Amino acid sequence: MCDEDTLRERVYGLIDVARFDLQKATRFKVDGEWKCRVDVCEYIPKDNPAVILWNPTLTDRELLLALVHELTHACLHPPGCDDFVQDEYDKEEPCSHEAADIICRDYGVSDFQDVMLKRGVKSEGLKGNDNETVEVMVERVQAALASSDVCPDWATPVDDKFRWRAAKAEAGERWRHGPTSRRRADLQRDIYGLSRSFDF
Ligand SMILES: [Zn+2]
Repeated sequence: MCDEDTLRERVYGLIDVARFDLQKATRFKVDGEWKCRVDVCEYIPKDNPAVILWNPTLTDRELLLALVHELTHACLHPPGCDDFVQDEYDKEEPCSHEAADIICRDYGVSDFQDVMLKRGVKSEGLKGNDNETVEVMVERVQAALASSDVCPDWATPVDDKFRWRAAKAEAGERWRHGPTSRRRADLQRDIYGLSRSFDF
């Protein structure tokens, strides 16, 4: 039951039911050499449906593993939310790498890191509070794959960016500092420049 074919079936089932738009990235020739603006795969949350772009030179298997990685980003960034800022992306990337490896192992796929390394993708390694983020990613994506015929909450498009930012600030507070270390309102103000707190 828990093998690579099951993983494939569930990943594509989930992408389908969550209505992520899976697109081949365009290739172009520079000095006679084919280039692609996407090295491996990329999740772009700002559109609705959100887009997953993949480099068309990937094998089916490389694409499958890359999609698991992109789903770990997706579970923190619902379709229609703000696009990644570089700083956020840099922090999240090692977590996605680690989480995808753990999720793949559930299905007996133990060479995620090797496959990515062959594509030139090397993890930076986890830092201080990254373990909590990895845990959240693994938990969310595992649950979604286990019921891949149901659209998970985290893939529900954002209809109110303001509420989404407040919820995200609260989640960030929980993961990084524990529930009581700082008041939510302070955090919202610091992160998003909000002048007052909101109930949601
Ligand atoms: Zn990534």
